Amino acid sequence: MQPAAYTELRERLAEVHDLDRAGAVLTWDERTKMPPGGAAARADQLATLVRVKHYRIAADEVRRLLDELRPYEESLAPDSTEASLIRVARRDHEKARRVPPDLEADLARAAATGEHAWREAREQNDFGLLLPHLRRNVELRQRYVECFPDAEDPYDVLLDDYEPGMKTAAMERLLGELKDALLPLTAAVLERSRAVDDSFLYDSFDVARQRELVLALMQRMPIATGTWRLDDTSHPFATAFSPTDVRIATRYSEGNLSSAVFSALHEMGHGLYESGVNGDTMRTPLCRPVSLGMHESQSRTWENMVGRSRAFWRCYHGLFAGTFPDKLAGLGPEDFYRAVNKVRASLIRVEADELTYDLHVLVRFELERAMFTGGLDLADLPEAWNERVRQYLGIDVPADCVGVLQDVHWAEGGFGYFPTYSLGNIIAGQLWEAAHAAIPDLEQRIEHGQLAPLRDWLREHVHRHGRKLDSAEIVARATGRPIEIGPYVRYLRDKYGEVYELPTEDFSGAGTMRM
Ligand code: ZN
Repeated sequence: MQPAAYTELRERLAEVHDLDRAGAVLTWDERTKMPPGGAAARADQLATLVRVKHYRIAADEVRRLLDELRPYEESLAPDSTEASLIRVARRDHEKARRVPPDLEADLARAAATGEHAWREAREQNDFGLLLPHLRRNVELRQRYVECFPDAEDPYDVLLDDYEPGMKTAAMERLLGELKDALLPLTAAVLERSRAVDDSFLYDSFDVARQRELVLALMQRMPIATGTWRLDDTSHPFATAFSPTDVRIATRYSEGNLSSAVFSALHEMGHGLYESGVNGDTMRTPLCRPVSLGMHESQSRTWENMVGRSRAFWRCYHGLFAGTFPDKLAGLGPEDFYRAVNKVRASLIRVEADELTYDLHVLVRFELERAMFTGGLDLADLPEAWNERVRQYLGIDVPADCVGVLQDVHWAEGGFGYFPTYSLGNIIAGQLWEAAHAAIPDLEQRIEHGQLAPLRDWLREHVHRHGRKLDSAEIVARATGRPIEIGPYVRYLRDKYGEVYELPTEDFSGAGTMRM
């Protein structure tokens, strides 16, 4: 029998959830349909929703209910829905209480003006235009960090907003190991970059036909009809207003066939996660994905592990060749498979291939650490950026607009976000290996267009938990291991070693890791 306080808490949280998802509808509209004239009013509407939501979570009444429910919570199994709901609500409540509303407002304003300055700075290739905003963002984030005086490392506070429970030390160890494994492998592959031809993907592809192709592909994904839609946008994203209302948005580039296809697969991976949470946690804080890293593990699974697999292209190459017979007829699955796994040293993170992607993330993570705890003067950021890109990717950055100014995150005060991209890849590798162990004929299934077995495995081991378990616990239960880089690195070495015919001694490192 649930105490009355529990029912009351759940009702309050249902309202907060509704406000949150209503905000998601407004954001989706802003990014897909809204004419530019709607921008100012939409910013006000969203700010109001955020404010109302904040007050509702931080309310004294919530504190009273949480206190009253402590004995009930302690009497329950920790991963029961009831105990999890109280625990997650307490976490959200305490986080909301720690940060003064004035600081929240300053952060939101600085994010909006920073984003605006970033557009200008990038367009004019002038880091100086962004610098004062960046200083302001870092200063405000430092004040935000001070709201959590028990944090061992200031960066823990930033990370915790995106990856609850994850500590900087653990992230640093994982990404450091990943870097040690990736640098020799990437160098060996880049030396042989010319062995793979992907030029046929960069012809001219009619956008209307690309749209039909992407829609046809999405219709073959394991998501129920009537529970999703696909739209155009300028920056691909996915969102969900409920598990049975998933929105995917992608963009099309006439001169690049893979851009829209892989963005859509990526976003569908996010969407499948949103669609898979447990139905009896609806309208509670538990019915959301647990973290950005876990979210990204799902998008990268469908984009890379599935979408860039040989099995996938054995199944779908005909769909591509049939849509563009004038450009792609005569190409076989192996041609596509190799082309979509072309590796090249490039400047832009969002266009990077699977193998070099994490090196782009490492540049950002190391610089964030230097900004918050390493004493890096923000004026020196461009040079520090360029030096790392030279070191990790072997290329010179010709201009800041394709260097330090390329991403919006820092301009909006989003520090601690970047490392979750690589964490997502690491988790994806680990889940992929575990899914293969559980579904021995997984490759054959994919080759026959049967994607539901993989979805079901992910749903059972990841999606349905929502926020009940943190990402480390989800991985531990799904794979029997803590989060570790081994499976992801094995996957990369196997795939790129084969595609680029690498002799093993070229990329095995100094034998420092037992893979
Ligand atoms: Zn993503």
